[in-house]
Amino acid sequence: MTLDVSVGLSPSELALQARARDFSLRVVRPRAAAIDRDEQFPADIVKALAGAGFLGMTMPKALGGQDASYLDAVLVIEEMAKSCTVTSRIVVETNMGAISTVMAYGNPAQKELAARLVLEGDKPAICITEPDAGSDAMAMTTRADKRGDVFIINGKKHWITGAGVSRLHLIFARVFGERGDDLGIGGFLAVRDDKALRLTKREKTMGLRGMPEGELTFDNLEVPANMVVMPPSGFKRGFADLMNAYNSQRVGAGTVAMGIAGGALDHALAWVKQREQFGRPIGEFQGLQWMLADMQTQLTASRLMLYQAARSRGPDGSAFPDPMLAAQAKIFASEAAIKIVHDALQFFGARGYSRDLPLERMARDVRMFTIGGGTAQVLRTLVASKMLGWKLPQTRDGYAPKPSIRDAAE
Ligand SMILES: Cc1cc2nc3c(=O)[nH]c(=O)nc-3n(C[C@H](O)[C@H](O)[C@H](O)COP(=O)(O)OP(=O)(O)OC[C@H]3O[C@@H](n4cnc5c(N)ncnc54)[C@H](O)[C@@H]3O)c2cc1C
Repeated sequence: MTLDVSVGLSPSELALQARARDFSLRVVRPRAAAIDRDEQFPADIVKALAGAGFLGMTMPKALGGQDASYLDAVLVIEEMAKSCTVTSRIVVETNMGAISTVMAYGNPAQKELAARLVLEGDKPAICITEPDAGSDAMAMTTRADKRGDVFIINGKKHWITGAGVSRLHLIFARVFGERGDDLGIGGFLAVRDDKALRLTKREKTMGLRGMPEGELTFDNLEVPANMVVMPPSGFKRGFADLMNAYNSQRVGAGTVAMGIAGGALDHALAWVKQREQFGRPIGEFQGLQWMLADMQTQLTASRLMLYQAARSRGPDGSAFPDPMLAAQAKIFASEAAIKIVHDALQFFGARGYSRDLPLERMARDVRMFTIGGGTAQVLRTLVASKMLGWKLPQTRDGYAPKPSIRDAAE
């Protein structure tokens, strides 16, 4: 095993980590290769995760959750990711992301719906990205038109995780009032049907193959007004507040990358003690020892940043991790993980390149985490804009703090 850094974990956190590690090795690891090969969402694993109490842990006890902290969720995600990326992403998205948003801003009916579906084994989908609105999410053109007590949603989202298998969807759309006035961007909760909320394409992905990514088309999807997820700030500022909940997902995504790296390093450590060349275990070569030490150092730094971000809260009484810490942790951990996994694969020589070992799967899976959930470049922009206190030219109104560069110069 790689060096374990407990970084001040409490006895109950250590117990949870140990339980998740046991589950990961016993239940998840034997299934990981087949999930990737068959490209099938693993319903059996979801059921097992639900039975073990790893779904909806962060939800309030009153709704069937465990009032678990984000750090608790992170500990479970890390252990699952060592064995299977798809499984760890299921834990992320049933404890963070859309669930964080609904639990923070939802009304009682929305919370009850989300909690019920998650406890039944649903992995909610969060629908933001569109073909012409990726990093520039505010350019979205999916629209929600108010008609009496309902909103009618039309448009298209792509690269939606869980498309075609998720039941609950948190859809972001530009909202128009009865007179066609642009009110801003809002979140809408809808349950999949096969008419108005349809899967229109499944992506063929490089990795993460058991988790469907797809395009969703909304054709006059009717969402009742009581299913609008609305922060107190209203539609005009609402998108920025809704996106704040995404800081939990960011910590979760960084943790998945870190967990994959930890799993790869575990494999590498065992191998360098066992594989002999030039009459000795390859781990006796200093060239590899220094690589190992660098891998462990990067992993420890990632773990410290992610645990700290999970424990943190943003300014102004936010219920979510601090945006600066979450962004920095995701940038660092996702980039470090790509290097660690590729170095681990290198230790196996030709065998590392074979599909018989998990390293090539890990290398394909880990590549995603500098892209999804905010690219490494866009997160750097967010960090820099906060450092400078400026609205940077490559951001849109509403994303960045005032004063703008021009305000500051005047
Ligand atoms: C596996 C996977 C799962 C995903 N799941 C979801 C999901 O569930 N829901 C969802 O809504 N979306 C999801 N996404 C989409 C993801 O959030 C977007 O891919 C991401 O926001 C980037 O958008 P884009 O792909 O359109 O790239 P673009 O925005 O077109 O960016 C292209 C390149 O330009 C760079 N760039 C863009 N703007 C700037 C800037 N201002 N400064 C510097 N560089 C910049 C980017 O970093 C990137 O390298 C997923 C993506 C992947 C790969």
